Amino acid sequence: MRYLSTRGGLIGGQTSAPFSTVLLEGLAADGGLSMPESYPQAELDAWRPLSYPALCLEIVSRFVDDIPRDALKTIIDKTYTSEIFGNAEITPVRELESGLSLLCVSNGPTLAFKDIALQLLGNLFEYVLEREGREINILGATSGDTGSSAEYAMRGKRGIKVFMLSPHKRMSAFQQAQMYTLDDPNIFNMAIEGTFDCCQDIVKAVGGDAAFKAQYHLGAVNSINWARVMAQIVYYFKGYFAATRENSELLDVAVPSGNFGNILAAHIARQMGLPLRRLILATNENDVLDEFFKSGCYRPRAPEETHATSSPSMDISKASNFERYIFDCVGRDGAVMRELWGQLAQHGGFDLTEPKYQAYWQRVQASGFVSGRSTHADRLQTIRDVYQRYGVMIDPHTADGVKVGREHREIGVPLLCIETALPAKFAETIEEALGKTPPRPAIYANLEQCPQHYVVLPADAEEVKTFMRKQLI
Ligand SMILES: *Cc1c(COP(=O)(O)O)cnc(C)c1O
Repeated sequence: MRYLSTRGGLIGGQTSAPFSTVLLEGLAADGGLSMPESYPQAELDAWRPLSYPALCLEIVSRFVDDIPRDALKTIIDKTYTSEIFGNAEITPVRELESGLSLLCVSNGPTLAFKDIALQLLGNLFEYVLEREGREINILGATSGDTGSSAEYAMRGKRGIKVFMLSPHKRMSAFQQAQMYTLDDPNIFNMAIEGTFDCCQDIVKAVGGDAAFKAQYHLGAVNSINWARVMAQIVYYFKGYFAATRENSELLDVAVPSGNFGNILAAHIARQMGLPLRRLILATNENDVLDEFFKSGCYRPRAPEETHATSSPSMDISKASNFERYIFDCVGRDGAVMRELWGQLAQHGGFDLTEPKYQAYWQRVQASGFVSGRSTHADRLQTIRDVYQRYGVMIDPHTADGVKVGREHREIGVPLLCIETALPAKFAETIEEALGKTPPRPAIYANLEQCPQHYVVLPADAEEVKTFMRKQLI
């Protein structure tokens, strides 16, 4: 399997690159994202009975042909264990009522679904760096959950340093403590005076400085890293097999979305032949993606227009992975992608309902996506309702998905809502909704009382580079 840039340019210095190259590089040289040149087709009958690691090996080995299968198996088997994920199923399905279930993907070390991909990424990085005798400095941006998840996956790993940008004072107290209490010498936390989108722009600017990138061996772990999307494809298959009895059945999934990474994995699973009927995308008050799927108009907001909400991991107005989805919808034509992303840069948006883009808009409409939006009041109401009806506590992001999922639910088609974090991470909102504190795993009992380690920096790429240079001499 070779990988292409969504903008049609070079990747790793060539027209296409192998997996290991895209694993370690963030953006392609032309500013695009890496995508597999084709999607392998699923073998549903053979895959249905498999355990999580065995299923993962089948899927991942189809996207990775430059790591031997037995090495991949070792990496996957040590990643997806019940010690790390609390459960041999790894991503169990929890039925709320007949035809409505949660896919629980947030039982990893940092209590959010991002652990599923980042735990694997950490082990893949270690393997490839060791094999190639290389070191890497990971520069990432987090809206709250990626950062801690990446840091827990990379802490203490040889050849890897992590520089993580997070939006100062815009994460929950628990999220902040989870990241900033880490004191490993290979972990550096930078709190940026701005929003997540500012952090992401800085990562792009620093990564776009080719000389800096080469000199300091920069790599990416934010959701533009292809390997994260790949790892997330697995749990859509696992969830489908758990929620259905036969491979002829259809399933709807509801996914709370921010950077479009999670639901992109669902889209790819569907392209691989997984019988997903609808991909129900839920946004919070930052509703750029909902607007796109309703109107065909993609218009990312400025950082000042991005609301700080009670589902903070979705406070994103410029969804990086959306570019990968549009790449599919424009027939994987790099020239069209350059045109659309040129319009984004020049005019702040593009509109796929324009006559010349009609064919692409039709592909969007045939891709199974529907969308909706959820507000703070909706989250509180949904958390309360799910707790009263089923005795299950859900986190505010999951609640956004459940709220929008139910609006699109149809009799006869089971609905699987992705549980993207545990309620313990967002105690403030749970307390507001239910008047009680969510249970917290014992290892995190006194988290907020521990000393925190981070620097506060202005939203400026040059300041970030200066800080990194000081740490890297
Ligand atoms: C990251 C995150 C999301 C959004 O996922 P994307 O892949 O960015 O769309 C939703 N909920 C939680 C809890 C998250 O951590």
